[in-house]
Amino acid sequence: MPTVFEAMEKRSHEEVVFCNDENSGLKAIIAIHDTTIGPALGGCRMYPYSTEGDALRDVLRLARGMTYKAAIANLNLGGGKAVIIGNSKTDKSELLFRSFGRFVEGLSGRYITAEDVGTSVKDMEWVRMETRYVTGISRALGGSGDPSPVTAYGVYVGMKAAVKKALGRESLAGLTVAVQGLGHVGYNLCKNLAKEGARLIVTDVDREALKKVAEEFKAEVVEPDAIYDVDMDIYAPCALGATINDDTLNRLKCSIIAGAANNQLETESVHGPRLAEKGILYAPDYAINGGGLINVANEIEGYNRERAFKQTEGIYDTLMSIFNLAEDENVATYIAANRVAEQRMEALARLKNIYLPRQNPMQKRDHK
Ligand code: NAD
Repeated sequence: MPTVFEAMEKRSHEEVVFCNDENSGLKAIIAIHDTTIGPALGGCRMYPYSTEGDALRDVLRLARGMTYKAAIANLNLGGGKAVIIGNSKTDKSELLFRSFGRFVEGLSGRYITAEDVGTSVKDMEWVRMETRYVTGISRALGGSGDPSPVTAYGVYVGMKAAVKKALGRESLAGLTVAVQGLGHVGYNLCKNLAKEGARLIVTDVDREALKKVAEEFKAEVVEPDAIYDVDMDIYAPCALGATINDDTLNRLKCSIIAGAANNQLETESVHGPRLAEKGILYAPDYAINGGGLINVANEIEGYNRERAFKQTEGIYDTLMSIFNLAEDENVATYIAANRVAEQRMEALARLKNIYLPRQNPMQKRDHK
């Protein structure tokens, strides 16, 4: 197992903070990957990691992903993440999150936290009692509230960019979209799609969610595993990661993949190029699902829902530049997305006269 410094050097992380508070029982790690463009923003995950090594690996990987996500979303933010080692069902307390908040405060704004898997808006409200460097607070308290409608809107405009590029069409009317997962994002995406006249084929493991969408948007319902085999123009994964894999690649008959789920490609370096070979235009997940991040980032300057939606419309142009670069350089779209993000970070580093002491800190991004 590499030492902490070796792990940090591998992907050019700036700072790692180990937080230990016996009083509250807090054991957490905060990782700041890169603050070239701005303070590092990223959620706080709570998970019962079996080893400290697992927790460190996860937080370093996630923090780096946030650097790219913020850069591609045209935000003035860097990438960071935090993990609290513990069981989110049994180990939560006011003291724990206030203690975490004090560690965040100690970083004086270099890291801004938010909710993530295993943490909630309520937990972040405890964090806010100790620091103002927290986002994802409820709208009642002046925060940005549920980001999902904004994320869904971003996926919708990103899908339109993909349709323009792959099919030369301005509208989604008449196209068939297969939506997997009808939760917070999937439901709102269906709403946008139905409004524009797209035909919907949907699935979910939750029968209630299915019934609601089927009735409200006249969607056709299929069993969860059947979604990969339906006749569709667009596959929109909005549930799980890694649904683009060896099995589904042989089944998907679509022109476009555009959805909200994180880490859609099981193995980027394998399945990214294979999609391109099959002539399927893939909208890179972290570029198309950036609306949620844009939404919380807005909280930093004083939240304005209208501005968050407006900024999210930029996902159309971003995706178009990714698709064009992928075509010009004959590379998979996920590689083009990384290059677009790196170009922005490098240009802004030059503008700010920041000397990047690393060879090329942004290269070799992966989700592993
Ligand atoms: P959610 O938990 O509200 O919804 C997920 C839905 O997927 C649920 O209805 C669940 O029943 C369904 N599901 C689970 N397993 C399934 C399966 N095998 N087949 C079909 N459906 C299944 O989550 P969400 O907030 O809507 O997020 C959806 C995805 O988008 C996640 O991958 C999330 O990480 C990603 N994402 C969300 C946001 C956001 O703003 N909420 C932002 C960026 C990325």
